[in-house]
Amino acid sequence: MTEPVIAVRGLTKSFGSLDVLKGIDLDLMPGEVLGLIGPSGSGKSTLIRCLNMMETPSGGRFTFKGQEVTTRFRGKGARIGTGELRRDVGMVFQHFNLFPHLTVIDNITKGPRIVRGQSRAEAEALAMDLLAQVGLADKANAYPSHLSGGQKQRVAIARALAMKPDVLLLDEVTSALDPELVGEVLAVIRRLAEGGMTMVLVTHEMGFAADIASRVIFMEQGRIAEEGSPDEILRNPRSERLRSFLSRFH
Ligand code: ADP
Ligand code: MG
Repeated sequence: MTEPVIAVRGLTKSFGSLDVLKGIDLDLMPGEVLGLIGPSGSGKSTLIRCLNMMETPSGGRFTFKGQEVTTRFRGKGARIGTGELRRDVGMVFQHFNLFPHLTVIDNITKGPRIVRGQSRAEAEALAMDLLAQVGLADKANAYPSHLSGGQKQRVAIARALAMKPDVLLLDEVTSALDPELVGEVLAVIRRLAEGGMTMVLVTHEMGFAADIASRVIFMEQGRIAEEGSPDEILRNPRSERLRSFLSRFH
């Protein structure tokens, strides 16, 4: 039986008195593309930020490749630390978060050189390969401020891939882009999906999610409200709440 890459049980997260995640159970299988949808404020970003410990969960537990992830609430011995988890679970953000003072290639090689201990030559060879994959080989020496939003986001994806992550978390990565630049970023994500990359994709691109997701989760008020295939959740939604939510995207 295949083991989940990430297994989440009863995960909760509160900010002060605000309960944002109210008990999430989730298995992410190798090669799966999990589409995460739901209204603004339903906890999608908080959930995926917990998955690489950018947020510390308030309760519950989760494992990464069978190893218990450090969480302060149980006080148990950690089996995988936060640093190691972040190395192996990559994140791409809505607003790119590139280092503005570094060139494209330095943005991409920084992590592998510092965290993976790669030589400059090794890291640059990989970075050039990744830049070619995202169609930006000619931008290696450019600074982020000279790139379009779509190009920045493709660099951000290349940067995440340079760490050779087991899982890629993508948080509304096309939401900040002008409409004409969305397609070039989605094309990169589609190729990653076809290549078998395990991903959690928070998105409002419902058509795209329907195309590439192996499974879709609909979150509402900090809980998984519905879960199923793209057909069940996106193409033939049965519940009124889901239909009403999806109707906003047509
Ligand atoms: P979504 O990504 O689905 O829009 P979020 O996970 O960003 O939802 O936010 C869920 C709720 O948690 C919102 O009410 C938001 O204001 C709150 N929240 C998120 N991050 C923080 C934080 N660092 N401090 C306080 N409240 C937060
Ligand atoms: Mg969000």
